[in-house]
Amino acid sequence: MPTFKAIRIDKAPEGQKGTVASWCYFDEAGLMDGDVTVRVTHSTVNYKDGLAITGKSPVVRRFPMIPGIDFAGEVEASSSGEFKPGDKVVLTGWGVGETHLGGYARKARVPASMLVPLPDGLSAAQAMAIGTAGFTAMLCVLALEDFGLTPDAGPAIVTGAAGGVGSVAVALLKKAGWHVIASTGRASEADYLKGLGADEIIYRAELSEPGRPLGKERWAAGVDAVGSHTLANLLAQTKYRGAIAACGLAQGMDLPSSVAPFILRGVSLLGIDSVMCPKPERIAAWQRLAQDMDLAKLAAMTTHVPFDQVMDTARDILDGKVRGRVVVDID
Ligand code: NDP
Repeated sequence: MPTFKAIRIDKAPEGQKGTVASWCYFDEAGLMDGDVTVRVTHSTVNYKDGLAITGKSPVVRRFPMIPGIDFAGEVEASSSGEFKPGDKVVLTGWGVGETHLGGYARKARVPASMLVPLPDGLSAAQAMAIGTAGFTAMLCVLALEDFGLTPDAGPAIVTGAAGGVGSVAVALLKKAGWHVIASTGRASEADYLKGLGADEIIYRAELSEPGRPLGKERWAAGVDAVGSHTLANLLAQTKYRGAIAACGLAQGMDLPSSVAPFILRGVSLLGIDSVMCPKPERIAAWQRLAQDMDLAKLAAMTTHVPFDQVMDTARDILDGKVRGRVVVDID
């Protein structure tokens, strides 16, 4: 059986805790069930990939695992009526890189139900510049819109703004006409965030410490990639009948809040999960991304790394050293 270059994660040797990531030539016979085989051309480095590669959090639940929670590429073989060889496809979520072999490999095999056709107007590299983080940002914006919020309700805040989800959310909210407040811990990224569309910058420390149950009403909508006290403070400062779309936990998984914003201001908390998002919503979100994502801004927020540098970048993203999005050139 042919082999292909990949990263694999195994359980640490007997007597040691955790997992070990290493380079390998993976045997094609070891690929998991699926009716579509994809030649992977691009993947990305998301926060969750950092957790998987470093073993800092037990996101990998099948061994051996090929990490990489998203990929784009070209169909090599298919027994599904949905895709034929040569079709360009994108995959995010569905437990790929966690329970199903993932994108840090020259080849992937998945059920057709997990794949979305590459939308017109985006290359595989651009789709991965958006990747799981950008797709999640789009789901957040769509949730705020479906909830009925429009830019005339007041500003929209984005936390973890210089990160992957945050950078795409800033650009998308601006494109949709919002006055965007970007919260970042990196003062040096103020010009970067203004370039993406931020109208105001506030500093992370203003939101990340324990706060009061209710504060001055400052924003009508929000995209929160951070959780913990930051999300609690976001809720406490949301305008009457506003909403926050919560998707991340960069500060923490806790939510030290009270019911005050909900019962006194009718504020709503919208939960966003990109992993198990149903396929029709995925297709709609990708179409909106192809239509609304400013490609110059996307390029400005994207760094390309060769496949060989994935492990270093995975460590960097956990250390908060990565700005915007990272595309991995697999080919
Ligand atoms: P990034 O690492 O690219 O961005 C996270 C950002 O959060 C950082 O850039 C930083 O922004 C900010 N941040 C980091 N540490 C802290 C801290 N201790 N306190 C406050 N802010 C902090 O990650 P992603 O954008 O890829 O993902 C963001 C979050 O969203 C992660 O928790 C991830 O797991 C989650 N996620 C969830 C998904 C879902 O389906 N629900 C899908 C994708 C991601 P800055 O420097 O601007 O302050």
